[in-house]
Amino acid sequence: MNKNMLYRSIPKVDILLEDEAIQALIARYSRETVMESIHIEMDRLRRYIGQCEDEEKARMQISLLTAHIEMTVGAMHTPNMRMVVNGTGTILHTNLGRAPISPEHMKRIAQIATGYSNLEYNLEAGRRGERYSHFEKLLCKITGAEAAMAVNNNAAAVMLILSSLAKGGEVIVSRGELVEIGGKFRIPDVMEQSGAALVEVGTTNKTHYDDYENAITEETKALLKVHTSNYRIIGFTDTVGIDELIPLAKEHELPVIEDLGSGVLVDLSKYGITYEPTVQESIRKGADVVCFSGDKLLGGPQAGIIIGRKKYIDMMKKNQLTRALRIDKFTAAALELVLQEYLSEEKAVQHLPVLRMITMPFEETEKNARTLCRMLRRASLPAKIEPQRCESQIGGGSLPLERIPSMAAAIRPEKISVAELEERMRHLPVPVIPRTSNDTILLDVRTIEKHLFSTIVNQLKELDVLEEVSLIGERQTGAKEAGLTEERHPGAKEVSLTEERQTKAKEAGLTGKHQTGADEV
Ligand SMILES: *Cc1c(COP(=O)(O)O)cnc(C)c1O
Repeated sequence: MNKNMLYRSIPKVDILLEDEAIQALIARYSRETVMESIHIEMDRLRRYIGQCEDEEKARMQISLLTAHIEMTVGAMHTPNMRMVVNGTGTILHTNLGRAPISPEHMKRIAQIATGYSNLEYNLEAGRRGERYSHFEKLLCKITGAEAAMAVNNNAAAVMLILSSLAKGGEVIVSRGELVEIGGKFRIPDVMEQSGAALVEVGTTNKTHYDDYENAITEETKALLKVHTSNYRIIGFTDTVGIDELIPLAKEHELPVIEDLGSGVLVDLSKYGITYEPTVQESIRKGADVVCFSGDKLLGGPQAGIIIGRKKYIDMMKKNQLTRALRIDKFTAAALELVLQEYLSEEKAVQHLPVLRMITMPFEETEKNARTLCRMLRRASLPAKIEPQRCESQIGGGSLPLERIPSMAAAIRPEKISVAELEERMRHLPVPVIPRTSNDTILLDVRTIEKHLFSTIVNQLKELDVLEEVSLIGERQTGAKEAGLTEERHPGAKEVSLTEERQTKAKEAGLTGKHQTGADEV
């Protein structure tokens, strides 16, 4: 095998640049990224030829050069982050972006973010303002707190609180509350980062008033309560409530801090959900500082909301860390809109997607599952399709034991396995993430907005996703044969294949509107 000849048969860059397909790429994208892709692919090809012992395969790779350049440049310009359909029934799915923001709110946020705003400008006084001013009064009104602010997320909130109130001192926490939240957020580690020393008291299952009392020293700066949002200790247990800690803290002039995690503002027990302590209740009982997430049960943007006594909130606003943890204009705008909904509980439950999904009556999921099944059956797919009972979960580390009765469209494919179908659904232009159970694909309708039903059905139908050999399967096999294996083209294969499929999807009537869901309400 004459490698020199192979190397020489690689087209020169100036020849490539005259190629019609490459010209089209330059017109569509940019000369710079096309040139970059040409160099990347040329280098790869040379390396491939250097290692390859099969002349035919090497020639095959050379003939695919233009196609590979197309894929690489396409991948550079295709956003990897996109909308997915959440069929898992887990409402606050951290991997899928937690709380969805309503389209109405998003329109308003877009107005603010696409231009200038009064983010830090006091329009009345005509001078510099505070970015928390847009929602601080609302938070105080809703929760009964004296003052409020927000940072990037609740992990940051805990860090900021401890750093502001307890740096260089000790903070007392019950051993039953040394929580690890997902993503390596561990209370003891955060404490260390903040410069406060952790003093553990009690045992895993029982902590008493005396435990706290005996641990208080000259060095104590605060008492911390952490809501064990993502696990439950049941059986022989005892904890000391905020209301019991308050008098003890007062006696020693110490603040009581409560990390509530989820931060629910509505009593969910009215809707048949297990009672979760509300933010208002913590403040009413006398907690000095309370923090919670913006994108868990509150149903808003990612944020860490901190409320409590003005003197403590002021200390935090002045802390240098705040500058590093501050929220941006999207978050500030979204928080105000979401909190405004809470001025009426009824409106909040109707307008905030998270609350709407949590409180959606079983009968409604039943009706929606029947609709989705009817639409799927009309598509004559090679699968058995029927409504099936299932259970939704809150997720996001909130109410871990809660199961909400719900209904799903159950799909049992006839020609391919459930695992295969699950994988194919993940690779759709608008990926559909289902739950699989007992060799069934379940699409829990509680977490699927109704306007997405047609997107699901059209994709499954037009792309032959349930066929033995599907368009999606074929392309992937084709790509593999063409040498586009994972290690060779990580990412690139995926995206450009997706792009190809998107073209196919457009032909199949999945318009851009369906794909982004942007304008659909
Ligand atoms: C979720 C949670 C956090 C972390 O909140 P993020 O907003 O995800 O950073 C901290 N503490 C508790 C108790 C939680 O449940």
